[in-house]
Amino acid sequence: MPYFDNNATTPLLEAAEEAYMLASRDHWQNPSSPYRSAARARNLFDDDREWLAGLMGCPVEAIVFNSGATEGNNAVFNYLAGKHSSRARVVVSTIEHPSVLEPARAAFPDRVDYIPVLPSGISDLSVLAKLLKNPDIVLVSLMAANNESGVLQPWRKCLKMCRQKGVPFHTDASQWLGKMPSDGLGECDYVTACAHKFGGPKGVGFDIINQRETSFRSQLGGLHERGHRAGTENFPGIRSMVAALKYLYENLDRTLAEQEVRRNIFEKTLCQQIPGMRIIGSSDERLWNTVYLVMPGFANTRWVSLLDKRGFTVSTGSACASGTEGPSHVLAAMGIESQEAHRILRISGHWDTSSAAWNGLNAAFVEVWEELNRPKSSARETMVISV
Ligand code: PLP
Repeated sequence: MPYFDNNATTPLLEAAEEAYMLASRDHWQNPSSPYRSAARARNLFDDDREWLAGLMGCPVEAIVFNSGATEGNNAVFNYLAGKHSSRARVVVSTIEHPSVLEPARAAFPDRVDYIPVLPSGISDLSVLAKLLKNPDIVLVSLMAANNESGVLQPWRKCLKMCRQKGVPFHTDASQWLGKMPSDGLGECDYVTACAHKFGGPKGVGFDIINQRETSFRSQLGGLHERGHRAGTENFPGIRSMVAALKYLYENLDRTLAEQEVRRNIFEKTLCQQIPGMRIIGSSDERLWNTVYLVMPGFANTRWVSLLDKRGFTVSTGSACASGTEGPSHVLAAMGIESQEAHRILRISGHWDTSSAAWNGLNAAFVEVWEELNRPKSSARETMVISV
């Protein structure tokens, strides 16, 4: 069944599944235990950490494995709130994932400043330049790529601006890692990522924590992760996450070249077939897998269910926002009117989504559009005749 909701979560890549099964079968011991079988698990674990640090371009000691991006984002804000005085403020973009926005507001009540986005979906760093004049700012957080629109955010430029002012910088790279080159991420003071967005298992991720932050503690109760996060490490999960990244970064150039072309053909063809349909965020650089659409008519939930009946899974927005009343905060930040927000669809492909799958989705969209526009009376007539 062609799955087009990979920004919500991904199926396990084969390499990741294999690594998980092997580690669970052969290296299930606690890597901290004092015998040889556990030491073998520890050695493999150390190799994985080293490989990941190499990919990210950060010291090995900066990596703190955890359960995923929600934990990672919470940990950064909670740590900084404990470290700084009650005057300290943080800056976040208005389109961050709730796992950044909510801990920022909870840990720094009434002391959060915002970077707005332009209608294209890209953060407006001219506002950041003004905010950075305040000496009370202790962190700026800007996601690397947005989970709803797929728009790439200017996190490298943001990092540079923060460096010039001596302000620490955090990026939530959950949607970037595995899809885009990793260069430069290791230079950020804090980075958050999770495996299930790039073909790894759920419930595994990591933070990069700047080396100067020796007192960083996200969980107490043991000396795991050099005391930064207590709790027995999920070694099979970590091994599987690293295996997914190895596979993806070996094939990244090919993926980027092939998948972006497939996505662009899909968009171009669909725009010709469904008049009045609009693509959001396409005026700036986007993730190669994401299509964010405003349909010309009918509620997005009807589109989702009729496409689903034809075997194609797409989303109404982020997994967190869908199912809630009202438009998502990302759409609101981009200035999308609420009557349009209910006609939004998010389509997100995979590293190996075939041309046939994109073409099939295209045909299904056209079929659904025709079905939705079919006069109701003819449907009733058909029913009467068939009875
Ligand atoms: N940050 C972003 C940008 C995301 O898209 C998500 C997942 O939806 C998260 C954080 C939360 O990740 P996790 O499910 O690993 O807690």
